[in-house]
Amino acid sequence: MSEKKLGWKSLSIGGYLLEPGSAMKYKTGDWRAFKPVIDQKKCINCLLCWIYCPDSAIIRLEKYVEVNYDYCKGCGICANECPVKCITMVEEER
Ligand code: SF4
Ligand code: SF4
Repeated sequence: MSEKKLGWKSLSIGGYLLEPGSAMKYKTGDWRAFKPVIDQKKCINCLLCWIYCPDSAIIRLEKYVEVNYDYCKGCGICANECPVKCITMVEEER
């Protein structure tokens, strides 16, 4: 007896987005175990952290940057890339 193979059209729909931009509503910062703390006096405003942050959680200001903790997941990439090492990863307190 031959077994009938299923195609992709047989799969049930797992989930779909009804509207774009919905990620803004989900504040993913509470996943964080460590948070980046910026010493703004040492910041040279090179914006490498802003370029590298995978969550667009670095906020550009005129002379330095800030972290948007609502969306920062604490990956530490910004601290790793900062050329003057003014970002320290600090354990999150809950
Ligand atoms: S820790 Fe990661 S997510 Fe948070 S600001 Fe730095 S690069 Fe972005
Ligand atoms: S990488 Fe460091 S020096 Fe450059 S903008 Fe970010 S915090 Fe400031």
